[in-house]
Amino acid sequence: MTNEVTTSTFAKADIPYLIAGPCSAETREQVLAIAHELKNNDKVHCYRAGIWKPRTRPGTFEGVGAKGLSWMQSVKEETGLPVTTEVANAKHVELCLEFGIDVLWIGARTAVNPFAVQEIADALKGVDIPILLKNPINPDLALWLGGVERLQKVGITDLGVIHRGFSHLGEKFYRNRPQWQLPIEFKRRKPEIPIICDPSHICGRRDILQMVSQKALDLDFDGLMIETHITPDEAWSDAKQQITPDVLSTMISDLVLRRDRQSDAGVQSELGNLRDEIAQIDDDIFNLLSNRMEVAERIGAFKKENGITILQQKQWSKILDKAKSKASDLGISERFIVQYLRAIHDESIRRQQGVMNEED
Ligand code: PEP
Ligand code: MN
Repeated sequence: MTNEVTTSTFAKADIPYLIAGPCSAETREQVLAIAHELKNNDKVHCYRAGIWKPRTRPGTFEGVGAKGLSWMQSVKEETGLPVTTEVANAKHVELCLEFGIDVLWIGARTAVNPFAVQEIADALKGVDIPILLKNPINPDLALWLGGVERLQKVGITDLGVIHRGFSHLGEKFYRNRPQWQLPIEFKRRKPEIPIICDPSHICGRRDILQMVSQKALDLDFDGLMIETHITPDEAWSDAKQQITPDVLSTMISDLVLRRDRQSDAGVQSELGNLRDEIAQIDDDIFNLLSNRMEVAERIGAFKKENGITILQQKQWSKILDKAKSKASDLGISERFIVQYLRAIHDESIRRQQGVMNEED
């Protein structure tokens, strides 16, 4: 998370921005009962409930529609919690603004469609309301970034994104695979945009919610969105992944928060020393690599003079075997050392070909 002072709704101070509430608003009583329980948890910042539900198959519960907006208004009035719901088109935006919904989120199935995101962005022109954009269901970082840009272009400044995993074929440990490298790369490209993790839609089940939430916090995510229901097993959508407000409470208190102590002078100086050590080692490695490449070029020239092929499979297998056994002695993973050597070997071959091309 960025250290500068920010007016973002979602950027955490010391604790994660926590959004909790049911997958779907079902009845007025259900919406309010959950909200009243969550109000007692001072870690909850915002109440969620889906009103228009984008379901994979028709014929399942598709949300209560606009009538749920007044239930959300009651949540605000009775509990003081800000409220959020999913919008998928301009009409939804218009209705949410009319009913004073505090935060709008754009779902994963909408985020895949630039026409839909643009329609929502256009409906938001001139209204600076906090917006959360979920990642598209497919692992396409450019599409996610494109959605962010569409919203920024119409003047949305209070913007965050939600990582909810990516759909995939095959084994189903996760409902939607986290593919953490994507949100990490998102953070690198847009460090100023807070990022919230939605473990509920990543996991699709309760038993691994804690593990995924902890992982997100360890990766310095700014917040969590967790589906919470008073009777999860009876929920009208996503029953398997919802938890009760009590379970949420325990889960959140069991999470370990790692403070960002970069501003602490002692920590800073020790970290600085360690980083210098790494920089020195990297430097040595680069010098050695450069020496290695020079020798490879000499071998290339020698092979050319003597009419020997550049790639000699036996020699390469010998190098790999030796490296694997050395790596295992040093406690370095075999997978890593093979990847590393392949990269070096590819580059050596390119250099050897370069020598030949130059001579040609
Ligand atoms: C939801 O948050 O209820 C939802 C539909 O999520 P997603 O868009 O991530 O599938
Ligand atoms: Mn859901």
